[in-house]
Amino acid sequence: MTKNISLLGSTGSIGVQTLDVAEMHGIRVSALTANKSVKLIEEQARKFRPDMVAMLDREAALKLKIALSDTDISVYEGEAGIKAAAEYEKSDTVVNAIVGVAGLLPTLSAIKAGKNIALANKETLVAGGSIVTAAAKQYGVKIYPVDSEHSAIFQCLECSQGRFVKKLILTASGGSFFGKTRKELENVTVEQALKHPNWSMGKKITIDSATMMNKGLEVIEASWLFGVPDEKIDVLIHRQSIIHSMVQFDDNAVIAQLGTADMRIPIQYALTYPERLPSPASELDLAEIAELTFSKPDYDTFECLAICREALRKGGLYPAIANAANEAAVQLFLEGKTGFLQIGELVGKAVSDFKGSDSLTLDDIIQADKETRKKILV
Ligand code: NAD
Ligand code: MG
Repeated sequence: MTKNISLLGSTGSIGVQTLDVAEMHGIRVSALTANKSVKLIEEQARKFRPDMVAMLDREAALKLKIALSDTDISVYEGEAGIKAAAEYEKSDTVVNAIVGVAGLLPTLSAIKAGKNIALANKETLVAGGSIVTAAAKQYGVKIYPVDSEHSAIFQCLECSQGRFVKKLILTASGGSFFGKTRKELENVTVEQALKHPNWSMGKKITIDSATMMNKGLEVIEASWLFGVPDEKIDVLIHRQSIIHSMVQFDDNAVIAQLGTADMRIPIQYALTYPERLPSPASELDLAEIAELTFSKPDYDTFECLAICREALRKGGLYPAIANAANEAAVQLFLEGKTGFLQIGELVGKAVSDFKGSDSLTLDDIIQADKETRKKILV
C-alpha cells in the first residue's frame, strides 16, 4: 500500500478527492502541484504540510511563496517545479491528476524516478501509450488506473489474473446530450454541455463526456493499460453510472464492478491496492436505484468516439493528434469561440489531414501535439 504521495493537479476535481482519501487513511502527502489556484493550494498546503509545492504559473508561484513564507514549505515554479514534485525522493507513488497532455512529461519523469503511478490523467496514455508503458516496464513500476472504468476492469481482471479475456465492456453514461440528434446539438450552450447527469468533474472532461470524446480517449487508454486491441473493446451506454465497466471472459461469463458514482472509490483502490479499506464514499443501494439500463452508443451523432477508435487502429501519432485537436477545440468551445458540433469536426479533420509517420519518439509526440493545436487555435 502507498505510504507517501506526490499529488500533481491537487486543486482539481480528482486532486481534491485524492486528499480526502489520503486524509482518511493517513497517507503522507509530500508534494502538491497545480496550475495557478493560489488560494486553494495554500489551504491544502497548510492542512497537509507537504515538503514542497509547485505552481506551473510563475506569478502564482510568487504569490504562493509570499503566502507560505511563515512555513518551511518550499515553493517551486514552472514545468521544472512539477518535474521536481514528480521525482520527489520521499514519495513512493505519484498521483497524476493533471488535465490534458501536460501530464505526459511528469508521468515519464515519475516513472524514471521509480515511482508507481496512480493515473487519472488519461491523456498521458492516449498521446504516449507506447512510450509510457515501455518505460513503466523498463523501470519496474506499476500504473494503477484511477479512471473509474479502468479501475473497474482492473478489478474484474483480478479474478482470472488477467487471462482468458474475450472482451472489455466499457460503460458510458452518454453525457449531458444522450439521445439528442445532430440538429438538436447545433446550438447547445457551454452551460448545457457542462451539466453531467451523474459526475461532478473538471470542465474539460465534462465537455469530453458530452461529445463522447471521453469514451474514445478511454478506449485508447484501456487498450494500453490492458493490452487489448480496439475490436475487443465494446462501449455500452449505461445512464446510471453504477456498473463502472465489465470484462467478458472466454466462457462468456461477464464480471462487472459496481459502486456509487464517487471517484474516491477508484482513487482509493489505486492507492491502497491490494488492500480494501473503509471508504468515504457511500454504500450502493441497488433497491433504491431500482433500474439499470443499457443501450448502444450513437457513433454517427457522437463522432468523436468513432474518430478515436480509428486513431487507435491507425496507431502511431494518430491518437496524439486526435487528443491535441480535441484539447484545442474544447478550449475554443469553452471560450465561446466555436460551436459544440465543431469539436468533432475539428478532431475529425485533424486526424484525416494527417498523413502518418513511422517514427514515434517523445519529440514526435510533442511536435505533433504543438502543430495540431496551432492549426486550430490560430
Ligand atoms: P480539473 O480541471 O478539475 O483539475 C486539473 C488540475 O490540473 C488542477 O489542479 C490544475 O491546476 C492542474 N493543471 C491544469 N493545467 C495544467 C498544466 N498545464 N500543467 C500542470 N497542471 C495543470 O481536472 P479533473 O476533472 O480533476 O481531471 C484530471 C484528469 O483526471 C483528467 O485527465 C481527466 O480526464 C481525468 N479524470 C477525471 C475524472 C473526474 O471525475 N474529474 C474522472 C476520471 C478521469
Ligand atoms: Mg472514466
